[in-house]
Amino acid sequence: CGIVAYIGDKPAFPILINGLKRLEYRGYDSAGVALMEEGNLQIYKKQGKVKQLENLTNGHSFDSTVGIGHTRWATHGEPNDRNAHPHYSSNHRLAIIHNGIIENYGALKTELEEEGYSFESDTDTEVFITFIEDIQKTLGVSLEEAVRVALTKVVGAYAIVIMSQDDPDKLIAARKGSPLVIGLGKGEYYVASDATPIIEFTNEVVYLNDEEIAVITRAGFEIVNTKDIPQKPYIHTLDLKL
Ligand code: GLU
Repeated sequence: CGIVAYIGDKPAFPILINGLKRLEYRGYDSAGVALMEEGNLQIYKKQGKVKQLENLTNGHSFDSTVGIGHTRWATHGEPNDRNAHPHYSSNHRLAIIHNGIIENYGALKTELEEEGYSFESDTDTEVFITFIEDIQKTLGVSLEEAVRVALTKVVGAYAIVIMSQDDPDKLIAARKGSPLVIGLGKGEYYVASDATPIIEFTNEVVYLNDEEIAVITRAGFEIVNTKDIPQKPYIHTLDLKL
């Protein structure tokens, strides 16, 4: 339902929490974040309001300067802590937030279970990220290439942002059918499902188009489509008076 992500030089956690609050108007049943903590990809998530996620993380001081956050509106799997986003892949080295529905997740899940994978949630989203982990292992390719290949095989609508423990200085974002916008700062980037969490930081944004994948680091970002053809981003200036 709601997506916020950050990579830059500031602590990510408050940006994610405030961004999720700005997206509350969309309605949701659970909230969560993934951050880097001492080299480990850590997920905190909770059914209920963003306030309850804050209670869960009370007392923690997070210094991660990269992170992803999500408010969920359940489509596959009841609203509960386990089904909240972010979701880890099977080896807990990738984390994903996802808006939308992966329609062929049932068939993918059966295939992955036959290969020996097991799942912690009932969501289509967890199948999606474990599918990406499996492609990366099987083909021995980069994370962005594994995401691209996965996107050519899934059916449905998505806006996703992915983080990796092995590649913590990078965010990968992609969309088809669900909106996603990248906010451009100085040495920092924001990603969100609409511009409301971004406008307080920058008025320069790039709207991802369908079937585009953005690879974002603190130094810049690149966009390719799912056919692996580089795309020239169109930088849009938001009217802050609106
Ligand atoms: N299909 C996903 C789920 O049920 C994402 C729902 C959403 O868009 O929030 O977990």
